Amino acid sequence: MSILVVVGTRPEIIKMAPVIRRLEEKGLEYVFVHTGQHHDYEMSRIFIEELELPSPHVSFKLSNSSPASQIGEMIIKLENSLAGLKPSILLVEGDTNTILSATIAGIKMGVKIGHVEAGLRSYDWRMPEEHNRRMVDHVSDHLFAPTDVAKRNLVEEKVWGSIHVTGNTVIDALNLYLGRVRELEDKVMGQVKFTDYILATFHRAENVDDPNTLRNFLEILRRSPLPVVLPLHPRTRRRLQEQGLMSQLESLEKIRLMPPCGYFEFLALMKNARLLMTDSGGIQEEATHPAIRKHVLVLRSSTERPEAVSAGFARVVGVDPTVVLPELENLLSNRVNLPHSSPFGDGKASERIVDIVSSDLYT
Ligand code: UDP
Repeated sequence: MSILVVVGTRPEIIKMAPVIRRLEEKGLEYVFVHTGQHHDYEMSRIFIEELELPSPHVSFKLSNSSPASQIGEMIIKLENSLAGLKPSILLVEGDTNTILSATIAGIKMGVKIGHVEAGLRSYDWRMPEEHNRRMVDHVSDHLFAPTDVAKRNLVEEKVWGSIHVTGNTVIDALNLYLGRVRELEDKVMGQVKFTDYILATFHRAENVDDPNTLRNFLEILRRSPLPVVLPLHPRTRRRLQEQGLMSQLESLEKIRLMPPCGYFEFLALMKNARLLMTDSGGIQEEATHPAIRKHVLVLRSSTERPEAVSAGFARVVGVDPTVVLPELENLLSNRVNLPHSSPFGDGKASERIVDIVSSDLYT
């Protein structure tokens, strides 16, 4: 009677880590599966090691790279693994192709699905993440909604499963690991050299797959009033290289270009930044943690995390330099006090999720 925890990408590993820790604390039997969707060490294995998670019991090496073929391959490989494991429930987190594949494999084999971080909606149909989260939400048995806003989305869509408002496990993860960040903060900051800087990330398909948007992003970096620290996502690096724009980025002054960071290093950079510019989902949430408390310019035309906007942390500004740069100047010149609590929960989401899962196992 086991629980299957399936992950495949960086944010899934980070946000499932507190759930795995909790399963272990409660002595619940589980199998940890990694689909290999992110396979580079710095996008995957580094997080399993840093967060002291067990090595995945099952992991795949994917040979396909286009989204539909990769989803097909993951479904087949997951089905083969599930046949031997016979789990009672399969837990997925977020909005990736991994969660769609795992959900299809699970539901076709009669396994219950629990969706951690259910109910987020960007209402932007260009985003593959929006397709994935909507499909998974409609076939899940347990929908772990991080907030009341997410719950309302699910109620309005009349999803089939049970909805539980739990908070987001990203806050649990920060609580668990912030002590480790403090240990290496001085070293990380010594390497960055800037004391006053913006931390930026940029990798969403609808942004980096569009050459004009990539050029706009470079223009924002070129004209930024503060130095920018930029850990570059592999997808963004590939797109910049394909468009012949990598050397332009490398030649920019006041940019600290770096490979994707480990979690602790990234949190140290976030904690010490003046503000954040990103198209990431998770970073919008992390910015609201009381130990981080940062303004975020969301370089997109929508967000599925409106709670960060309502609480005053985030502004959705798009990627047009004529909009983003004035917003940036405005934030830098006007000090606005941010709340001391996060709208994404109290750090007990993983406890609530594991309690619900374990009580379901015995009913
Ligand atoms: N992150 C990291 N290193 C980096 C950039 C991000 O550890 O160089 C972490 C970040 O703290 C957050 C997660 O990765 O927890 C966000 O992942 P990503 O932006 O890839 O995905 P999204 O949240 O947009 O789905």
